[in-house]
Amino acid sequence: MTNFTNNNIVWLVDATTYTKSLDSRLKGMKQVFYSLKSLAKKCKELDTVLYSDKTFSAGLLRIATILDSNGYEVYYVHIEKAIEALLNDTYPMPNIVAFSAVCPTVDLCSEFTNFIKNINPNVKAVIGGPQAFVAPNTLKKRYKAFDDVISESDCNAASRVVGRVVTYDQGGNFLNYRLLPDNINKYCLNIATYLGCEYSCGFCIEPLMPKQIMPLDGGITSFLSELVPNKLIHVCDTSLGGSYFRALRVLEEMRMINHNKFLSCDLRYDFIDENTIIGLKKAGFVEVNIGIDSYNSSISGKATFAEMTRRLQMIRKYSNLYVSVYLVSGLPGYDHEQFILNKDMISILYGERLVDQIKHHIYVPYPTDHNHKYNSKVIIATDDWTKYDRQSFPVYRLQTMDSDEIWEWYLEIERHINDKWRESLGKTKEEIQAEPTHIDYNLAYYK
Ligand code: SF4
Repeated sequence: MTNFTNNNIVWLVDATTYTKSLDSRLKGMKQVFYSLKSLAKKCKELDTVLYSDKTFSAGLLRIATILDSNGYEVYYVHIEKAIEALLNDTYPMPNIVAFSAVCPTVDLCSEFTNFIKNINPNVKAVIGGPQAFVAPNTLKKRYKAFDDVISESDCNAASRVVGRVVTYDQGGNFLNYRLLPDNINKYCLNIATYLGCEYSCGFCIEPLMPKQIMPLDGGITSFLSELVPNKLIHVCDTSLGGSYFRALRVLEEMRMINHNKFLSCDLRYDFIDENTIIGLKKAGFVEVNIGIDSYNSSISGKATFAEMTRRLQMIRKYSNLYVSVYLVSGLPGYDHEQFILNKDMISILYGERLVDQIKHHIYVPYPTDHNHKYNSKVIIATDDWTKYDRQSFPVYRLQTMDSDEIWEWYLEIERHINDKWRESLGKTKEEIQAEPTHIDYNLAYYK
């Protein structure tokens, strides 16, 4: 084991993704789903786009970048490689470990902290990331292993990590990708032009995250030269640019950069009009993701299905964009009738060729410190945070449905998505089975 020799060694431990075993029935359906995805991408001539199955946390890399520029010796490690790295002396023994975690990985971070403190009790361990942003007090009470829970970002967070004020004068959105364990081209590249969300849709806790205006180019110009051709870059703003008019400015900025790459983004339904669609095309976007969540707008807090279809038709009229929408099963307010309405909606979306793909996950009532408007509408069945996963058996029940019913309907919707997708592509089951799966990080982390 490496000796403790330097006060400036910081491990930044990325626990924002995790490996999860899927239910065996769901696993079979996901394999079909990813074969269908491969076919759908070919139909849109996107099979040459370079997607990736690895991710990293931009927030954590930003802290690594700041600390590195302040003279700290930083190592970016994925949580699932952390123990191995420690036992194999892959990196020098840290003085500080800083985690970025989502709800299901906090236990793992706590276990790693206990493990490393058994070796060296002087190691300082801090935790931040999405779960710390929405539930810092709950997290402090629940986990005693951490020395600090950080619900700040950038220089403020970096200062809390090392316990002294650090500054950063390179400005902008500069991330030092060389600090990642692998080459930049091996990762899904997420850039942001706006962090947080100004909206407040039904169940979503994103508005609890801090808001921050980022550069209009999302920092893309600082690393373009390092990317291989055909690389996909995803603008991960929850609502592009933060508002409709800023979205147009982002699109104009992207158009002016001769990036020669493929772009994708998430887009709010009410940003979709002729201006944004043409702007997306001119800026090099090939794919958009749109949240529909549920047929019933009083459940989703978004538009009616009639309004959604009008906007989707507009995309079809003015572009050849690959349109992916997502649904959430088991939201408060769901009953059998709502699931049937969602099935009809899926039949229409594929039958009328309004979309190229429908993603689907199960509602997760993530713990927050705040009294979220949905808290009173769900009955929590387990407080085991490792089970708070979007592709797993529900951790709650509703007044209207128990957990088993929600799960069986979830599988039924998943099956229906595959069936209607296959029909819309005009393929037989045998043809789908022969198709290789389109690997992306969703599949890579679910085994
Ligand atoms: S669903 Fe999207 S637009 Fe609505 S609050 Fe959440 S992140 Fe914002």
